[in-house]
Amino acid sequence: MTTSTSVRRYEHHIEGHALASGPHLIRDDPATGQPVAEFAAGSAREVDLAVAAARRAFDHGPWPRMSAGERAAVLRRFAAAVEAEVPHLAALDRSEAGKPIRYARADIRAGAAHIATAASLVETLRGDSWTDVDRDLLAYSAHEPAGVAALIIPWNFPAGILCQKLPYALALGCTVVVKPSELTSGSALEIARIAEGAGVPAGVVNVVTGLGSEVGAPLAAHPAVDVVSFTGSTASGRAVAAAAGSSLTRVGLELGGKGANIVLADADLDQAAEAAVFAAFFNSGQCCVAGPRILVQAAIANRFTEAVVARTDTLVTGDPAAERTDLGPLIHENHLAKVLGYLEAGHEAGARVLRGGDRLDGELRRGSFLAPTVLDRVTPDSPVFREEIFGPVVSLTTVADADEAVRMANATSYGLAHTVWTSDVSTALAVSRELRSGTVWVNTHLDGSTHIPFGGVKASGFGREAGREGLLEFSSLKTVQIRSARRSYGFGTR
Ligand code: NDP
Repeated sequence: MTTSTSVRRYEHHIEGHALASGPHLIRDDPATGQPVAEFAAGSAREVDLAVAAARRAFDHGPWPRMSAGERAAVLRRFAAAVEAEVPHLAALDRSEAGKPIRYARADIRAGAAHIATAASLVETLRGDSWTDVDRDLLAYSAHEPAGVAALIIPWNFPAGILCQKLPYALALGCTVVVKPSELTSGSALEIARIAEGAGVPAGVVNVVTGLGSEVGAPLAAHPAVDVVSFTGSTASGRAVAAAAGSSLTRVGLELGGKGANIVLADADLDQAAEAAVFAAFFNSGQCCVAGPRILVQAAIANRFTEAVVARTDTLVTGDPAAERTDLGPLIHENHLAKVLGYLEAGHEAGARVLRGGDRLDGELRRGSFLAPTVLDRVTPDSPVFREEIFGPVVSLTTVADADEAVRMANATSYGLAHTVWTSDVSTALAVSRELRSGTVWVNTHLDGSTHIPFGGVKASGFGREAGREGLLEFSSLKTVQIRSARRSYGFGTR
């Protein structure tokens, strides 16, 4: 197991400077239990300072006043600089989040791709025009920056999720205050530094670290914030929406999920099994778009279950620094205890453990490792089936046909992403239409591009990230109407 040698100490990043204040929160590497970082524990005071800095940069600074092309040029340098720091940034996310290093690198590269995408989208973003309302009226609409954006980020993809928001906000000319997870703030602070090195003016990107209750809550409620973009649990999302509602601030919410992975009898079973194991265990299942519920058609259930179990047996769980590792630890001990509690509840509800189910021992005992766990005989009334576990746990449930699969897939409060495997295009279309979710993948999982928007319905939130729709989350549409000749209003004197 690779152990860290030094503890990185971080302060808040406000108006281009490190702001040293108050106590620090210690972050332990979840793979080893050893401290790797200390993050300043912010409060409403630092939130006020950061929002004031972002407000000044928006109301008086050059960033919102630059042309789209000028901002895009800075963003392209920013993307290249992030790409150049992939090893460094990936090492931070690896040691703070326990992310296997090859996936940590992929997250940073995807982040750089989002920055480049935001640059190209803003250059081609156009409003509309109305030239034929009548001959003396010209009307047009223009996308203006929404203002100061608060970006609240979870721990499961620290740099990845930040980069699904930050570049789109910046591209439109917004200024931002970032609140990363108190567990994984290193990459956000480094990315703020990299942005400024690439030419983003000081004050445009500010980062306040600390707890959700001490930093996130006052930030979401701050009257000088114009838009809040939040990713995290549904419970915190409700609190954020209520806080933003108190000052009538716009809000976008990317919340939890409980994806169904529907495998029909006519599917390519080998491909579906490979993808199902990836969907269930990628990022140790700590992924909002995971596929933790396999709904398999009865006719192929035995064969498919065997294929899933066989593939699970090939996975390597362990040192996140090792190239071969597929699954790292869970984010912390309390989360591991919560996941084990779900396994207990599943057991009581009659589920059978086909693989895993236990905390890993030996050298891995120092970290919060859980063996990838396959359960079958999971019934739809079990908490394992209905609630977001956010761990390396996949359940298998047998369905009679596509209709029953759709009913079961939709039978949770979430609606983020579902997957269906079938070789029949009519079935694929019909099932895609009936699934209530922001994304449906057919014969693939976790696919896509930075240009394809992403988001949820129901308790998975609202608003979209990435692509043109992600950019528009940070736009305020203004219409301008210009009359070129006198107009009689027919009001009062005739
Ligand atoms: P949390 O909701 O606990 O936290 C998310 C962020 O919000 C953290 O920075 C947290 O601070 C902060 N926060 C917590 N409470 C508040 C509050 N009242 N006001 C403002 N900010 C607050 O989620 P996790 O970090 O535990 O992330 C896991 C969850 O995120 C899962 O449910 C997962 O499904 C969801 N998620 C959704 C995604 C999507 O795109 N739909 C993508 C990734 C994750 P801190 O933790 O530092 O105290």
